[in-house]
Amino acid sequence: MTHGQDGREGRVGRVGRMGFAALKRCATAIGLRPSFGLTLCAAIVVGAFVVAQGFSPAIAQQPPANPLAPFIKIQAPVVALVHARVIDGSGAPSREDQTLVIRDGNIAALGDSARTPPPAGATIVDLTGKSVLPGLVMMHEHLYYTTGPGVYGQLGVSFSRLYLAGGVTTMRTAGNVNGIMDINISRRIAAGEMPGPDIDATAPYVNGPSSFLQMHAVRSADEARAHVDYWANQGSTSLKAYMQISRAALKAAIDYGHRRGMKVTGHLCSVTYGEAADLGIDNLEHGFFAATDFVADKQPDVCPGQARGQQTIAALDENGEPFKALVKKLVDRHVALTSTLTVFETFTPGRPLPQGLDVLAPQLKDAFQRAYDRASQNQQSVYAALFPKAMRLERAFAKAGGTLIAGTDPTGAGGVVPGYADQRQIELLVEAGFTPAEAISIGTLNGAKYLGRDARIGSIAIGKHSDLVVVAGNPSTTIADIRRVESVFKGGVGYDPQK
Ligand SMILES: [Zn+2]
Repeated sequence: MTHGQDGREGRVGRVGRMGFAALKRCATAIGLRPSFGLTLCAAIVVGAFVVAQGFSPAIAQQPPANPLAPFIKIQAPVVALVHARVIDGSGAPSREDQTLVIRDGNIAALGDSARTPPPAGATIVDLTGKSVLPGLVMMHEHLYYTTGPGVYGQLGVSFSRLYLAGGVTTMRTAGNVNGIMDINISRRIAAGEMPGPDIDATAPYVNGPSSFLQMHAVRSADEARAHVDYWANQGSTSLKAYMQISRAALKAAIDYGHRRGMKVTGHLCSVTYGEAADLGIDNLEHGFFAATDFVADKQPDVCPGQARGQQTIAALDENGEPFKALVKKLVDRHVALTSTLTVFETFTPGRPLPQGLDVLAPQLKDAFQRAYDRASQNQQSVYAALFPKAMRLERAFAKAGGTLIAGTDPTGAGGVVPGYADQRQIELLVEAGFTPAEAISIGTLNGAKYLGRDARIGSIAIGKHSDLVVVAGNPSTTIADIRRVESVFKGGVGYDPQK
């Protein structure tokens, strides 16, 4: 999971014509450190080549090799997926033996295989025994990773590939500590320069003064507006408030964010869910895990500590009036709730080891294993009661008409691995009591609706984008089959998850 390699690949690609061996000889000859020597030599060789060509503009106009090519499995003008089971993302029962035609990145035809012949010249892919579902639309993803307590390293290149390989075709980055990287990666993916999902690039957290070394401290409504303005101008497309924000700063961020066309979510603590709903927030993160509404002596604008809030949620009566009143307020104000069960599962004793740990650098894998062992041995863990309770609360919210969306949050102690965790999140929604079709709908169409993009993505229907995941087996009866990804279509191109 290092991304230094990608920079090297980029430089080598530009000078590939000149011969890698010649560059190495040059680097050795001038006796520099290999990486620096190679770069310098590449510059010398390219410079010499440009001079020899008399600065011909033809060099700049040569079409670059398709940078996505190494990751592609299926690419053709027209592709027909035949004999497929279709789980369309609407929550409806799956349909057997369907033909789905992809043309120009859109779903051009869809119907029973017997009555839907593939067009002449189409590339035929036989999906007997396999299923097609919409690409996942995941709403609490990050392009950074825990590299120490409260410190986050930027891993955008490897993470965007892992998300896509796991079946995620659209995602929101839901807060970051860098800002620029999410914007740049979103733009590069949109331009076809990198593989990855379409990205709603959230601005750096809008937070009050806190102990987080990498976060901006927003102390007033004016500073909140300045933060929103700066990041909107840079190209961020959504906002996330964090645990120490004041009501005044949050109100300013919401109102000003909306004027700049950005939706606002929050992982809150200092502001209660009820207060945030009254202020006009669009979305709240982490189900009810972050709600401090039920802390008896909660002081306005002060975070009583995440643990205090979580104790009250673990003890909360899910049939009681206080919880029902909060749910009603969130539903009435159209506040969506993001389920991120994956990150909390890693804190809960007795849960299985997460998938995907093998892609981590050894130090990160070891660090997570130690945290997992500690969590397993913690007899007093609040999560033993809290985790199943939180599942029931999320289900109650959805049953009451609330918009539940899904995400993973690759933070915590580091056991939430992009792509693998996105599949796990859908499995956990099924464990929470949703049917597989409902869980898939939460992870696809609900996210698309929240983003206002459901006319184009989030479900499988004629005219929509062909953002699709092909899996072996039948996740509509066996949700674990959602892990058996064979290809991921985005923009009409089928990517190979192994690559
Ligand atoms: Zn997060």
